[in-house]
Amino acid sequence: MIKNNSNPILNLDYELAIETLGDDYYDLVPAAEFPQHILRFRNDSLLPLIGLNSQTVSDADFIEAFGKFQGMRPFLALRYHGYQFGQYNPYLGDGRGFLYGQVRGTDGKLYDLGTKGSGRTPYSRTADGRLTLKGGVREILAAEALFQLGVKTSRCLSMIETGESLWRGDEPSPTRSSVMVRLSRSHIRFGTFERLHYIQRSDLIEKLLDSVIKIYYSHLADTEEKYSKFYAELVERTGRLVAQWMAAGFCHGVLNTDNMSITGESFDYGPYAFIPTYDPQFTAAYFDYGRLYSYGNQPLICKHNLEMLQIPLKAIISQSDLEAGLAQFEDSYQSEYQKLMLQKLGFAELPVSLAEELLTQTIKLLSDTDIGYHAFFAELASGFNYDWRQESQLILEKTEFSKQVSERWCSTYHLCLNKLAVEEMESVGDRLKKFNPQTALLRPVIESVWQPIIAANDWQPFYDLLLKIKNKK
Ligand code: AMP
Ligand code: MG
Repeated sequence: MIKNNSNPILNLDYELAIETLGDDYYDLVPAAEFPQHILRFRNDSLLPLIGLNSQTVSDADFIEAFGKFQGMRPFLALRYHGYQFGQYNPYLGDGRGFLYGQVRGTDGKLYDLGTKGSGRTPYSRTADGRLTLKGGVREILAAEALFQLGVKTSRCLSMIETGESLWRGDEPSPTRSSVMVRLSRSHIRFGTFERLHYIQRSDLIEKLLDSVIKIYYSHLADTEEKYSKFYAELVERTGRLVAQWMAAGFCHGVLNTDNMSITGESFDYGPYAFIPTYDPQFTAAYFDYGRLYSYGNQPLICKHNLEMLQIPLKAIISQSDLEAGLAQFEDSYQSEYQKLMLQKLGFAELPVSLAEELLTQTIKLLSDTDIGYHAFFAELASGFNYDWRQESQLILEKTEFSKQVSERWCSTYHLCLNKLAVEEMESVGDRLKKFNPQTALLRPVIESVWQPIIAANDWQPFYDLLLKIKNKK
């Protein structure tokens, strides 16, 4: 690493966590050289976390570090395999990205700076190693929206337009290019372990697992049975993560095991979508013909992926401990999902049977009607009125879908409000606003900011949308 006195990004104290494990886990790669570097997005809100001050980091600093990739090289293309739509694929790995570096956050945690669209690697196969501009825009928006919805997610640190013309089957082509830098807890995936099993290196599985526990599960590092506890906690974290997606109305789209993080964090946003209406069959990826990764399948798929991870982990953890760990998945998922849905409905807690009734009625209402999933909660937040506690007929009566809201749902909601003291109504209103932003990142919304970009190179609607997401407007 070359220290550069004037660029604060290059002057960060990069740590070498993965390099210290030896070169079995990555290949050294250079970054592509691009014809152009136009900074389209810098995530200033993330800078303090990595010890930077947005006032002292210039656009040119971003471009030098994350567009021209000066100062730090080579980079690490991480090796991994994975199950893709159920088929084992041993020809994966970072094909258009690399680990730029690892930095210690001001919260004491280690973070990865990973790229997307930074050029070809030994894992690119026949592909170009590039990211489309639209792909970059979509990932920025997904991460920011999910973050504001309380999902544990990676976020984009920067996106630079790179002046190339790309050809893609799923975008009108030629299409514009970009390179993105992502801040996440880790880029170690379930598939990282699957590869080590495939190449029959249980020694490398143990070494990597020790490192994962030390860095991302440090409270377990000095305990007995740390490996079993690690798996049990990964199950719990993953269960909670899927619950967060489900409550947010988010369909990831490609839940292959190479897109599952070993830290239980959500990342890699390709053909994702937020659901327009509550529909378990809703499927985000156009190429997911069997609806394997539909919205409603996500809990089952994540549990299945955790089960597949047992294959490499069997080298270290007993079968009975693995089974005991996985058996907790439903509990973790259900308790988090119920908590989050209750919050979206304005409540911190309710008597158990009433909470269950309210959730059942809410899902039934949203399944039986075409009321928008996000619109429903947004209206609940914006229309909330203390009178709802007095009179069940007043609940949601001013919304355009009021006629579709059943009496049964209103009377259940009315009953729940009446379980609270009058003084608690304010906190219901606050909670509704906190957990239900007015703007949802539905596909037409993304298109509405993308069109001005391609038609007139007008980025203002995109920045305005980011601001609305940030302010939960
Ligand atoms: P994803 O579906 O984005 O998670 O990617 C699956 C695999 O394909 C990963 O190994 C990627 O690195 C690789 N990949 C996707 N797009 C490209 C591309 N344009 N060039 C090279 N590799 C790619
Ligand atoms: Mg991926």
